[in-house]
Amino acid sequence: MNRSHYCARLSAQDIGQQVSLCGWVKRRRDLGGLTFVDLRDSSGVIQLIFPGEDESLGEGHTLNREDVICVSGVVRPRSEGNVNSEMVTGEIEVQVEKLEILNRSLTPPFLVEGDGSDTTEETRLRYRYVDLRRERMQRNLRLRHRVFHTLRSFFTDNDFVEIETPVLTKSTPEGARDFLVPSRFSPGSFYALPQSPQLFKQLFMIGGMDRYFQLVKCFRDEDLRADRQPEFTQLDLEISFPRGKDEVFALLEGAIQRTFRDLLSVDLPTPFPRLTHAEAIARFGSDKPDLRFGMEIIDISQVVKGCSFRVFSEAVASGGKVAGIRAEGCAGYSRKQIDQLQGVAVRAGAKGMSYIKVKDEISSPLSKFLSKESMRGIIEAFSAKNGDLILILAGDGIEQGLGELRLAIARKEKLAREGWNFLWVTDFPLFSLDEQGHLTSEHHPFTSPHADDMKIIDESPLCVRSDAYDLVLNGIEMGSGSVRIHSRDMQEKIFRMLGISQEKAEERFGFFLHALEYGAPPHAGFALGVDRLVMLMAGEESLRDVIAFPKTTTGTCPLTDAPMPVDDAQLAELGLMRKG
Ligand code: ASP
Repeated sequence: MNRSHYCARLSAQDIGQQVSLCGWVKRRRDLGGLTFVDLRDSSGVIQLIFPGEDESLGEGHTLNREDVICVSGVVRPRSEGNVNSEMVTGEIEVQVEKLEILNRSLTPPFLVEGDGSDTTEETRLRYRYVDLRRERMQRNLRLRHRVFHTLRSFFTDNDFVEIETPVLTKSTPEGARDFLVPSRFSPGSFYALPQSPQLFKQLFMIGGMDRYFQLVKCFRDEDLRADRQPEFTQLDLEISFPRGKDEVFALLEGAIQRTFRDLLSVDLPTPFPRLTHAEAIARFGSDKPDLRFGMEIIDISQVVKGCSFRVFSEAVASGGKVAGIRAEGCAGYSRKQIDQLQGVAVRAGAKGMSYIKVKDEISSPLSKFLSKESMRGIIEAFSAKNGDLILILAGDGIEQGLGELRLAIARKEKLAREGWNFLWVTDFPLFSLDEQGHLTSEHHPFTSPHADDMKIIDESPLCVRSDAYDLVLNGIEMGSGSVRIHSRDMQEKIFRMLGISQEKAEERFGFFLHALEYGAPPHAGFALGVDRLVMLMAGEESLRDVIAFPKTTTGTCPLTDAPMPVDDAQLAELGLMRKG
């Protein structure tokens, strides 16, 4: 028997048709001599009915969940009262005339149709091949495919060429640890798996490819969280002779707009708004602000300078800030809730937190220290209304704390669940300091410094802005990119500033430095995290729900049990020895 139709593509229009269907037994019910089986394939489910009097169909009574069968029979209307409006095929059923059992299944470890509450994620991943039969996983992976397909066609339509880059390669610094692969031919030498194709895509520009993209696996050995995987996929791209970053932005906006329109029927307005990094931090306390809600940071330094509350006046006098946010309608928060918020601010580095509950009677520990006028001045500065709660931090670098408070309140108040708020954050600092106090690249070392800041690069490197930009969606970083350095001199200068000696630079990046001397055009690029994009488009909260065979948070694969120890002989072949 060969399949003639997919289960859920049949409808009342097919009544009377002879069909052959293949799939998995979702469930079986024996009722008064009749056997009903729900049959599932990749399209969905249809009800089969096995007439009791037909001896040759006796095996229908023995079918169990997930057995694989093929049946032929006739589509007919369900009897009145048996129509199921919840099912796509709820008006019809197939009266089975012939049954072939293609394969039996062991009792599955969890219900494919269940909501997952009968199992753990570990078990789902161990039996991923069963888990993938779930409607939700089928939907997510099909959406993933369509996102890839749409992106590929968009960039192809825009004259981009998809080119693969090596997986066994040399370290590409993106701020994570490398995964290393030992070489059998050169014992003691290792390939690194690419943290991104950064240098290769720049070499494509030097190689005259003009516009490159790739849907590519990248590998970063970092601590894992729900929104991180050690291997992930990005849409990597690079263009030559760009009209600055604007051209990169317009391309990404076009690609995302098409993807949302075609796959979610959502019309995204473009261009996406832009904020500089400095503005994002000052107004929202984050370099990836969620702009679906307001609650902007209000700087009240000028209002409270010289006031009688020493914490405030001293913060301003010593060059810091006093600033806060207004949580609309939150004046009713309990002592415990305020303490929790204070905990959020302190974890983000604040020394303490002040609050004002704006009610008919002002309720605030600050009342003891501030005159009525100062209090009124503060409330006015926040444009606070009856019922609002004002939270205030004072000192240096308080923006992060305020940003965290803003998010904590949004979570508590369930603000901003809906909508697609894309945002470009531009002009990131070129450098920041690492834990040892050394300069490190905020993006990566191939990012061009902002031309206007070149004059201060030597004396105030930390004040230099870069031509790097991030794309943010609903407060989540979706990707980043930059205009690149395309001269050897500038690239060497940046390496020197990062404390990479000339020798080290030659050893690690010599091939690239040489390439910059053979006619490197101006170029710029970007990388978009497509796992994250699909996750958000699918309405999922874990990357693992949109990746076919993901790793757990400890980097293991419960299905294959990777990573595995290897035996000494295999190590010896690679010139490696077990320690101890
Ligand atoms: N290589 C960068 C990354 O993977 C993106 C870029 O600068 O294009 O994050």
